[in-house]
Amino acid sequence: MDTLFPISCVSCQKEGIWLCDSCLDKIETLSSQVCPYCEKNTTERGEVCPTCKNIFLGKNKTLPLDGLISSTSYNVGNISRLVHLFKYNFVSNIHIPLGKILIAAILKNNLPIPDLIVPVPLHPRRLRWRGFNQAELLANYVSQNLTPGFAIPACPNLLIRKRYTVPQMKIKNYAERKTNIANAFSLNYLKHPNHSGAHSKIRVVFEGKTILLIDDICTTGSTLFECGKILKLAGAKKVLATVIARQEAEKKK
Ligand SMILES: [Zn+2]
Ligand SMILES: [Zn+2]
Repeated sequence: MDTLFPISCVSCQKEGIWLCDSCLDKIETLSSQVCPYCEKNTTERGEVCPTCKNIFLGKNKTLPLDGLISSTSYNVGNISRLVHLFKYNFVSNIHIPLGKILIAAILKNNLPIPDLIVPVPLHPRRLRWRGFNQAELLANYVSQNLTPGFAIPACPNLLIRKRYTVPQMKIKNYAERKTNIANAFSLNYLKHPNHSGAHSKIRVVFEGKTILLIDDICTTGSTLFECGKILKLAGAKKVLATVIARQEAEKKK
């Protein structure tokens, strides 16, 4: 891989590293966050704004996602290039600088320390193609490094992508993205074959917990909302999410 893609810092071209420490230091982590649903109202820690909260409550619905932190801007410091190298040129060790960016944003925004970290799962077909789940590498990094001295458990196996979907990046329209990802996730009952209590066993893992969902990039948020929905059904108390950056989508109608 090194001969195909000579390693150099995406920002200053320094050789031997994908993002050097001094360029990493210059990446601004965002402290101003917006509501994950309307994307308009600024909220503390990227929590859901009162207006959106009332819409869910009015429909007697549980909030799938209680908050979303976008770590940095997609278009600064060659973040988009770094993410592209990570996902499409299969450079797995880029999870280290990207993981550091996630942690910086989690700390800067004073997110509560989660009980459990869950990566957005990949469909097995996509996992075979890429060779790794980029969200899982990021989740593992955050799990090991967010709280020095002890690891926060990461849980990559219990939430699965049961339906293969066209990558969200390839769909431009907001409504189509939402339909594309609807009901794509489920709990992994296969983890407990031949066991009638599988559902309750998995529930024990999530019940009453504050969960931090991790993904690389989010656009409309549909993927995170779908994952959050499943985790809430499984008994999670709070589901927060952190991504490296939020990419502009076609405006919501
Ligand atoms: Zn550099
Ligand atoms: Zn809102």
